[in-house]
Amino acid sequence: MPIYEYRCLDCGKVSDHLVFNRDSFVPFCKHCGSKNMEKLISRVRVRLSLDSRLEKMADPSLFGSFDEEDPKSLKRMMDKFGAEFGDELGDDFDELIEGVEEEIESDTKSNTQETKDAD
Ligand SMILES: [Zn+2]
Repeated sequence: MPIYEYRCLDCGKVSDHLVFNRDSFVPFCKHCGSKNMEKLISRVRVRLSLDSRLEKMADPSLFGSFDEEDPKSLKRMMDKFGAEFGDELGDDFDELIEGVEEEIESDTKSNTQETKDAD
């Protein structure tokens, strides 16, 4: 996930930005609007290492037939992530799990109502 953090040289606050194209992206301060920003790299490294660990865990051989379109399969995988990363992911991850559980419920309901649109 290309998240970069920048510290504002005017107000000193940190803004994080999801950057898909670093060549054209101009960081700005979300607090005061300044473009006088200094890139921070420390936390990005932590995120990258976490991402690479998640990628390793997402190896299909670990999960059998993992199907990212299937909420039940996703939930199963996220339960394993939670066991491994619970402390690092914290509340955000708990909310993510709850969201997936809701998705499973609504998915189950819609499956009983809809029999077409399988695309
Ligand atoms: Zn600022």
